[in-house]
Amino acid sequence: MRKKVVAGNWKMNMNLDEGLSLAKGIVNSLKSMEMENDLDVVLIPPFIHLNELNGLLKDSRLALGAQNVHKETSGAFTGEVSASMVKSVGVDYCLVGHSERRVYQQESDDELIAKVNQLLKEDIQAIFCVGESLEERESGKEKEVIADQLAVLFDLDESDFSNLIIAYEPVWAIGTGKTASSDQAQEMHAHIRAEISNKYGSSIADEIRILYGGSCKPDNAAELFSKKDVDGGLIGGASLDADSFVEIIKAASWSF
Ligand code: PEP
Repeated sequence: MRKKVVAGNWKMNMNLDEGLSLAKGIVNSLKSMEMENDLDVVLIPPFIHLNELNGLLKDSRLALGAQNVHKETSGAFTGEVSASMVKSVGVDYCLVGHSERRVYQQESDDELIAKVNQLLKEDIQAIFCVGESLEERESGKEKEVIADQLAVLFDLDESDFSNLIIAYEPVWAIGTGKTASSDQAQEMHAHIRAEISNKYGSSIADEIRILYGGSCKPDNAAELFSKKDVDGGLIGGASLDADSFVEIIKAASWSF
């Protein structure tokens, strides 16, 4: 049985005080919440919050994630942050290949795999994002696009690959209010698992957690998470409100 994951990507939102009070709200709600099943809950704030949240989240059921790291280990890269730096403030997860970075920072496949390798060295779990654009879906190419994005990871050996989490985030659903239907999500998650199985075999494919992301909200989360290959969610907008995020966590906890 794969343990579900709910991860909140705050993106470039929340100054320090706002972020701390959001995190406190979530920690307090979860303290008193009955969960039917254990799951991993991750907060992925901007870098400026990481150190303080590391203290705040100690002894809570929440883990900490980073939104990005640099592809090199250290050095003259002004403005960048390395995998070992985020590890030193308690980060256990990190996004790689989010569509916003693929588009706005023009992150290349080589850069993405270099970042995954930096994270593996630091024992940080990469949440590797894949997703097709609306145009690619409308022209029927979505499965091919996702297979190509995934194949970037296929030089990893089995033990490194098994450390990853995959997030399927259709670009047309991110921040648009337009969610993939649960059947569309299931179909793509099954495709991703099949591609992994072809490369690494069925036992690794069965263990890898595949999250759905793209306008996941309290009112659609339970339906999405009820699908057999959907192992939780990467949540953007709805993770900025403690009540909404906690509702989504509840949906994941009850959807086994
Ligand atoms: C995201 O950016 O990872 C995301 C899923 O955003 P939203 O939930 O706002 O669509």
